Amino acid sequence: MIHVNGYAAQKAKAHLAPYSFQRREPSDYDVVIDIKYCGICHTDIHQVGDEWGGSQFPMVPGHEITGIVLQVGPKVSRYKTGDKVGVGCFVDSCRKCEPCRKNLEQYCTGGMTTTYNGFEQDRKTPTQGGYSNKIVVDENYVLRIPDNLPLDKTAPLLCAGITLYSPLVHWGAGPGKKVAIIGLGGIGHMGVKIAHALGAEVTVLSHSLKKQEDGKKLGADFFYATSDDTTFEKLKGYFDLIINTVSAEIDWNKYLELLKLDGAMVVVGIPEKEIPVGSFSLVAGRRSIAGSLIGGIKETQEMLDFCSKNGITSEIELIPIQKVNEAYKRVLNSDVRYRFVIDIKSLEQK
Ligand code: NAP
Ligand code: ZN
Ligand code: ZN
Repeated sequence: MIHVNGYAAQKAKAHLAPYSFQRREPSDYDVVIDIKYCGICHTDIHQVGDEWGGSQFPMVPGHEITGIVLQVGPKVSRYKTGDKVGVGCFVDSCRKCEPCRKNLEQYCTGGMTTTYNGFEQDRKTPTQGGYSNKIVVDENYVLRIPDNLPLDKTAPLLCAGITLYSPLVHWGAGPGKKVAIIGLGGIGHMGVKIAHALGAEVTVLSHSLKKQEDGKKLGADFFYATSDDTTFEKLKGYFDLIINTVSAEIDWNKYLELLKLDGAMVVVGIPEKEIPVGSFSLVAGRRSIAGSLIGGIKETQEMLDFCSKNGITSEIELIPIQKVNEAYKRVLNSDVRYRFVIDIKSLEQK
């Protein structure tokens, strides 16, 4: 077994604190990764808070992992010691179902193995995430980090980057398309950068105008405050695609009105409570509302290569792990510019 140090929540809503545990001895196809950085996703906060139900404790969160390969099993062919690698939101899947065969493991009907707060494919061994110094992952679920991308600013691409890249590409964001991103947080700011690089016209819809200057620097063409009701008048019927990243309950009907004929609003934010949608918001303008979950391994690698070519990384605030609880509070107050990333070497500090 491999001894690992990390930070865990012992029960729902508990503060995270030092925690040591064991990971499996690497099998033939496993890669052992020396974790260098791990991003803090809002999902970590939802799950530590058991907001979606079914959370398991102790929980070591973290699914925006980058590091260096420490050791590989004898049959590993894709990675070697010293390689720059990443791990995202899942570390295994059934490998047999239709989505798995289509490289869409995130929709595995057998149930993917989430990086933490999940179970291995044996359905009994719990998984633990990247707020820790080592992880053991099958090589098929490991990503290669391109040489020109730094490990700290790239960590958030493993969840935030792919969560926005996948729907932007699937719904055809590109030249001539008007795209809105609701919420300029961790995943939203990656959406602005990626949609801009894909060639779409990008608008940010944020609570207030506080982040306006940043939004423009990130690549937004326009920026509006949703606290101002005239925004909804001005933008009625304007967008082809709206990506909704908001982690809290907002009135989706108001935003659906901003879509033009055949426009789609894709929900990626996952608030705790359900949100009602009226038929009129959809039937008028043949609009659709859809959802999207992260991305498969193949597409995640494609996203990393796209970001490498376009020089895209995340805007981060690097913190020692001892500040994780404070960082959670700041994320909840929308006070993050734009992703907290934990420097894992801080685990060695007492
Ligand atoms: P985040 O950094 O906290 O960003 C969320 C943003 O939403 C905030 O920055 C804020 O943007 C806006 N917001 C927050 N509360 C709001 C409110 N009450 N009213 C209006 N806007 C509000 O979180 P994140 O890490 O980007 O994650 C966002 C959501 O996506 C979470 O629910 C997370 O679980 C989910 N998620 C889903 C997937 C997926 O695969 N579907 C993957 C990753 C994360 P402004 O300040 O600009 O208004
Ligand atoms: Zn995430
Ligand atoms: Zn499957």
